[in-house]
Amino acid sequence: MSEEAATGNNFLRHLVREDINQGRLAEQALVTRFPPEPNGYLHIGHAKSICLNFGLAKQFGGQCHLRFDDTNPAKEEQRYIDAIKEDIQWLGFEWNGPVRFASDYFDTLYEYAEHLIQSGKAYVCELNAEEMREYRGTLTEPGRNSPYRERSAEENLALFRAMRDGQFDDGSKVLRAKIDMTAGNINLRDPIIYRIRKQHHHQTGDKWCIYPTYDFTHGQSDAIEGITHSICTLEFEDHRPLYEWFIANLPVPAQPKQYEFARLNLNYTVTSKRKLKNLVDEHVVAGWDDPRMPTIAGMRRRGFTPGSLRHFCEMVGVARSEGVVDVAMLEHAIRDDLDKNAPRAMCVLEPLKLVITNYPDDKVETLSAPGHPNRDDLGMRQLPFSKEIYIEREDFREEANKKYKRLVLGKKVRLRNAYVLFAEEAIKDEAGNIVEVHCSYDPDTLGEDPSDGVKPKGVIHWVSASHGKQAEVRLYDRLFNHEAPDRGGEAFLDHVNPDSLRVLENCWIEPSLAEANPEQGFQFERTGYFVADRLDHRGDKPVFNRTIALRDTWGKAENA
Ligand code: ATP
Ligand code: MG
Repeated sequence: MSEEAATGNNFLRHLVREDINQGRLAEQALVTRFPPEPNGYLHIGHAKSICLNFGLAKQFGGQCHLRFDDTNPAKEEQRYIDAIKEDIQWLGFEWNGPVRFASDYFDTLYEYAEHLIQSGKAYVCELNAEEMREYRGTLTEPGRNSPYRERSAEENLALFRAMRDGQFDDGSKVLRAKIDMTAGNINLRDPIIYRIRKQHHHQTGDKWCIYPTYDFTHGQSDAIEGITHSICTLEFEDHRPLYEWFIANLPVPAQPKQYEFARLNLNYTVTSKRKLKNLVDEHVVAGWDDPRMPTIAGMRRRGFTPGSLRHFCEMVGVARSEGVVDVAMLEHAIRDDLDKNAPRAMCVLEPLKLVITNYPDDKVETLSAPGHPNRDDLGMRQLPFSKEIYIEREDFREEANKKYKRLVLGKKVRLRNAYVLFAEEAIKDEAGNIVEVHCSYDPDTLGEDPSDGVKPKGVIHWVSASHGKQAEVRLYDRLFNHEAPDRGGEAFLDHVNPDSLRVLENCWIEPSLAEANPEQGFQFERTGYFVADRLDHRGDKPVFNRTIALRDTWGKAENA
């Protein structure tokens, strides 16, 4: 890969390359980390951060750690830890060394806090939350010193140890860094570094009743692990001076640096764990891995491939300017991947029975069709053909104008990979609904044009009624029908697309599809890209999810 292609639209690649060229970073010495908080499933925004952190390490021969940022035990759970690890590996990445936890460093962080106290740079404060806010000042007004700010180091140390030993109630005291209450950057106005929280922790059990804040944890954990480039999203830019203050004032073993990039925002999508949790808790979706969710687990179940997600993240690039990416770009990435790689198959979603009157009753032919129009490696597939077949209900009309290139009474159509048919009669029930169509077939038209020179205008898909298997197909579409569902804050639930899921239980698939492995993707000819459901698909009860339609219908609707 040329350097140009290798750095592309990713400013952090340029930056690391420069660090190496200028001798600030040795070859292969890059160490990054991906630091999720285990309070929910990972989403498409996290995929960008994963591709960035693991991708840089891979490109420059460095390392990337997985470190759970677990300083808030109240919201964290083991099942989220398990899901996050699985998602990262599914995306195609592997962390270096063990799975790490910020809580692995609680002992060291505690010592660092005592170190600050002993050097007169931290104090125990007893202002309540409201007073704390009042003393903090605003963006335009400086803050005021806490009345507890001038306690002696001895007194602070005794109080902090008593906090650790569980002698005070939650919220009654905090430890604060002593920096500058008049600083322009509010993060430097004596930020809280430890709080009392009598809470069981998923990793450390009941060892601690005080927990360090994110700000007091992150940079020091980076230093302990020898992270060279600590990459985070832009909202942490204002925290960087604090990150640097801790590194400068503590006996840390290394000097990591923080860099920020713009988070991924996607239209028609919410990417906030809190809001995604809301969708799960309110049963708007069936779970974190519901195929409509923008979670990695949801997209996986929907039939997205790891390669398509990595490709999407590469296309989006890494910059410092905020923007909104069109979800159509993500959909394009998966469509493009499946078009190139997914085997073709036939599935009738809403069946109408067709009887071929001049086809012998007991005859069965095995026709064959390519697995993919231009991928010989995907081989041929066998298609049983018989007197009764299913076609799509919407592929037949008694009368139609010229634009309708499907089966019409008194006209011809070609069956995909099979013969030309002529529609003779529509059989109806008492209510006038068409229940069956009688046709004749032309036995000389397998791969040949009809001898009378009249070519059919259209090609439709079909499945042999006596050989096909019944299947459930779940037609998924975008979860939100509004371009910016969370612009109005909490009202995002009002923008849920009522048509985001339609379940069809009487679909007919060509027999080989029942053998599909869970998570195997296909193009169902003429209907879209589908995947055998990862959890529910079985040979005797096939279940397929629509990954994406063949073409983008949302773009058309928007332009209309
Ligand atoms: P959310 O805002 O969805 O709750 P978070 O930032 O609280 O996400 P973390 O688990 O702390 O979630 O995120 C882990 C890493 O992923 C962080 O480095 C964070 O900056 C990054 N990240 C989170 N959301 C995005 C996004 N939309 N685009 C890019 N990176 C993201
Ligand atoms: Mg976070």
